[in-house]
Amino acid sequence: MAKRAHLGVLTSGGDAQGMNAAVRSVVRAALERGAHVFGIFEGFQGMIEGGDLIRPFSWDSVGGVLQQGGTLLGTARSPDFLTREGRKEAVLNLLAQGINRLVVIGGDGSLTGAQVLREEWATLAQELVAEGRMAPNVAEEYGFLAVAGLVGSIDNDMFGTDLSIGTDSALHRITEALDAITSTAASHQRAFVVEVMGHHCGYLALMGALASGADFALIPESPPNLDAWEEKMCSILRTGRDIGRRDSIVVVAEGAQDRHGNPISSAYVEEVLTKYLGEEARVTVLGHVQRGGSPSAYDRVLATLLGAAAAEAVLNAKPSDEAVLIGIQNNKIVHKSLTECVAQTLKVGKSIHDCDFDAAMRYRGKSYSDSFRILRTLIRANPRPPEPSKRRLRVAVVTGGAPAPGMNAATRAVVRLLEDSGHIPLGVRRGFRGLINDDVHEMNWMSVNGWAPTGGSELGSSRKCPEGAELYAAAQVLEKHQVDAIVMIGGWAGYYAVHKLYEERHNFPAFNIPLICIPASINNNLPGSELSIGADTALNSIVEVVDKIKQSAVALNRCFIVEVMGRYCGYLALMSAIATGAERVYLHEEGITLRELERDIDLLKEGFEQGKRLGLMIRNETANSFYTTAFIAALFDEEGGDLFEVRQSILGHLQQGGNPSPYDRILAARLAWEAVRRIEEMTQRQSATSFSEVGAICLGIQEGDVTATPLYRVPRLMDEVHQRPLEQWWMELRPLARMLAQPAPGFFKQAEQE
Ligand code: ATP
Ligand code: MG
Repeated sequence: MAKRAHLGVLTSGGDAQGMNAAVRSVVRAALERGAHVFGIFEGFQGMIEGGDLIRPFSWDSVGGVLQQGGTLLGTARSPDFLTREGRKEAVLNLLAQGINRLVVIGGDGSLTGAQVLREEWATLAQELVAEGRMAPNVAEEYGFLAVAGLVGSIDNDMFGTDLSIGTDSALHRITEALDAITSTAASHQRAFVVEVMGHHCGYLALMGALASGADFALIPESPPNLDAWEEKMCSILRTGRDIGRRDSIVVVAEGAQDRHGNPISSAYVEEVLTKYLGEEARVTVLGHVQRGGSPSAYDRVLATLLGAAAAEAVLNAKPSDEAVLIGIQNNKIVHKSLTECVAQTLKVGKSIHDCDFDAAMRYRGKSYSDSFRILRTLIRANPRPPEPSKRRLRVAVVTGGAPAPGMNAATRAVVRLLEDSGHIPLGVRRGFRGLINDDVHEMNWMSVNGWAPTGGSELGSSRKCPEGAELYAAAQVLEKHQVDAIVMIGGWAGYYAVHKLYEERHNFPAFNIPLICIPASINNNLPGSELSIGADTALNSIVEVVDKIKQSAVALNRCFIVEVMGRYCGYLALMSAIATGAERVYLHEEGITLRELERDIDLLKEGFEQGKRLGLMIRNETANSFYTTAFIAALFDEEGGDLFEVRQSILGHLQQGGNPSPYDRILAARLAWEAVRRIEEMTQRQSATSFSEVGAICLGIQEGDVTATPLYRVPRLMDEVHQRPLEQWWMELRPLARMLAQPAPGFFKQAEQE
């Protein structure tokens, strides 16, 4: 039998939320593959000191850590590791435990360190042999070091991954802070300067500003264009005040600078605001709050996926394999050359240092520069006057279906972007009911002021779909208001209604205008998009509540059956199971059988007998109409006997509410931008060509890009009975969820025997 591989895992550099989730996933995935796993404490320093800082880890060593911020392994910056002598000690200590496979979770510095160790490994081992400190056969047997790196850093400054572990959580903290500051700023009519982290990367500042509706952002990659940027900034803020804004918020990245490379500090911005605006300005430096708190749902899922992939990569690695960085790009896990990613990261840093800002923006990629462009438009305080040569379009904005957090952010962005291009936005109240009843009003820049952070739908929504005579009424309303295009932001009921208008075009020419659907539903069950606005917020709401439920369960040896929404789509159930470490998830897509329930009872009993203190099962609301949440709870409770008791918890409508998460707000802005761009494109084409070609599309996000799917394809993409897409990308994450939550039957017994 092959010898069991020995794998070490460490966290290094600055801590970041989600590091624990990554460690948990690495440990469990490696154990599941039969490896011996060691936790290395205090980063590279622990390798150098060895002893108790390198400890064998079991399945339970990483229990209950998913929701904790920081890192259970501890982290450190290790000056000793920068020296060859230090690294030689590290080799000695690692090989004392037979470890020659490493997963390093950290920032660019840490990953560079791991890369250096890998390159020197064989030579350092030989030196140790020559010094008589290591047996020659050990050096020979473990002649190479396999390395996989995960980027754990809130800065998101590393090449090779679209997002690093911790960034989304940091953005949550920033957005919460900006929301809070905005409300006090508005009360006092004050200007605020908020400094966020990010030395060489403006990601947090940019996305934080975009998500919170701030008025100005200063980031390292794209300094303000002019030499007299101070006046320009203030004139933008002043115009905002003139049209009725009560607050001015400027977000400054730690590493912000001007075109000549001179740093722009938050204190300087404060000075500028006081001087030019003549009003009191206040500075808030967010500091380490940004690294703190429980990791967001996204970070937990991301860290879990990447951790499992990293364990697999180092366990499969051959001596000739390069060190890999495992990241996420376009919503897919990718394996990249670590050396290359480090080199590219240095290049971005260098281009910023050399004031080559075009290059810096290029390195950051398209979605980054798009976001910057969107932000620049959204912050412009003044609607632009229409160009005389351009047709002014009248565009109706309607929200349809159940309310989803982020609908308001999307509406706000559509309205402002339309006005910015000289068009006229019309708000339709209460969904398609408003279109039938002529509840349609012109909107403007200020009518959506402050909408970005709010939950629900300010316009009002409904599930109404015009039928029969109502179609005629709706057509008349469109004609009366001379509507040139419709943007529908909403869920399946909204899509259905828009599709109805589309189908009725031959009867009602008023419907033959650009029709655009923007996906907004917590269920994430819409065609043509991997994610819909609102799903991320709902997921975070679920995760927050389940964290609390888990605490109560642990105290009492309980098993909870938690029921989550999603209608027939299991997205929320599966993702919340991954993010909370639930043992089992019941989905409609898979169904539930009595045999499975029996197996689950056996596993629960085995677990509780082994000393487990809580059980957590997540059930989608429609997973099975006979095996309801109450039924499963009763069944488990009865079968659990004295070992454990069972409670059910139906989370209900709290999942539809709440302030939208930063991700949902940013997604809303990106899709709104595309909607306006498409309307202009379609209307231009319409005037040039024939009547029947007017577009009708569903916008979405697929593989990281904003895409448009023709509305006529929708019936072919959907399982209309169950109102969910036929293909759901997240279904392939099911085996991973299963593997990490509970060990295979007999796992503990097998471990005991060894
Ligand atoms: P973050 O920037 O997100 O806080 P980081 O991983 O980039 O995280 P650093 O302080 O740059 O943080 O690096 C952490 C540790 O990695 C250093 O203390 C050092 O031990 C090691 N390290 C960094 N660069 C090198 C290098 N070039 N060679 C060897 N070790 C390195
Ligand atoms: Mg760093």
